[in-house]
Amino acid sequence: MAKIINGKQISEHIRNNISKNLKSLKEMGIIPGLAVIIVEGDPASRTYVDNKKKACESLGIYSEEYSLSPQVTQEELLDLIYMLNEKANINGILVQLPLPKHLNEKQIIKSINPLKDVDAFHIENVGRIILGDYYLSPCTPAGIMEMLKFENINVCGKNCVVLGRSNIVGIPMAMLLLHSNATVTICHTKTKSIKDICKNADIIISAVGKTKFVTADMVKKDAVVIDVGINRDDNGKLCGDVDFENVKNVASYITPVPGGVGPMTITMLMQNTINAVKLQYKTIFGEELKI
Ligand code: NAP
Repeated sequence: MAKIINGKQISEHIRNNISKNLKSLKEMGIIPGLAVIIVEGDPASRTYVDNKKKACESLGIYSEEYSLSPQVTQEELLDLIYMLNEKANINGILVQLPLPKHLNEKQIIKSINPLKDVDAFHIENVGRIILGDYYLSPCTPAGIMEMLKFENINVCGKNCVVLGRSNIVGIPMAMLLLHSNATVTICHTKTKSIKDICKNADIIISAVGKTKFVTADMVKKDAVVIDVGINRDDNGKLCGDVDFENVKNVASYITPVPGGVGPMTITMLMQNTINAVKLQYKTIFGEELKI
């Protein structure tokens, strides 16, 4: 029976460190600020934004929410970002995705000051992640790396299969694993024999967005299974991509949904907000902020 990786517990552990950093910053008169922009209309996005706000409040990170109507224009959204790029008490800017179809997501992300891009989706930060020279981490993949580290799961030399190739999860996840010397295979809708590929994996990370996509017969005995998916089953209950009840009998470690990767993503966002403060301080003063 697999050990269930407790994302809430690992998050708490990281948040204790974040609290210490925040205390040191406060003593220097610095309170990190995060601006969250949401274009209303998607209930899931609303829940994510509320959770991010709650995390800021509980840790003592200053936050501002910009709730925009579903009819907001590209120009209005860009003007808001330009304003926040200049706002001194805002260190991080996050635009909750996905955006409605009439908005040009690429252009909007590109308009965020890369030093304030706490989601690390800006093309400059993506490039840095690919090169392994980054300061702002992609939150979900970084959270997964922290989980593996916490559980002493070394990825070096392991066969890792990432299911999904989105810019938000799959691709940056593969990059972080590669930088840690894993051998990485990325699967997507055009991949042939996904089951066989998975069967060879020491670590499977699923970010597909489909209920029960990863079944027990796809998992090698004692493999590690990380479930990024956030889906609803036929009864409307929150679930991941993995057939948890059956896969847990084959895997050595498994993450649950909820309570696995989700809490880590938010915690890494908080960490990135502090990292953004440090980055901006260094850019302005030319020296490291010692906290
Ligand atoms: P996405 O942009 O929709 O990407 C899904 C990926 O899965 C695509 O690369 C797609 O392949 C692949 N895929 C879909 N169906 C497939 C199939 N039948 N066989 C093989 N590959 C398939 O989604 P995302 O933004 O990466 O998110 C993935 C899931 O993670 C969603 O459930 C999302 O809600 C969740 N999520 C969770 C967190 C968290 O904090 N826990 C954070 C972000 C996302 P193609 O590229 O070929 O289309």
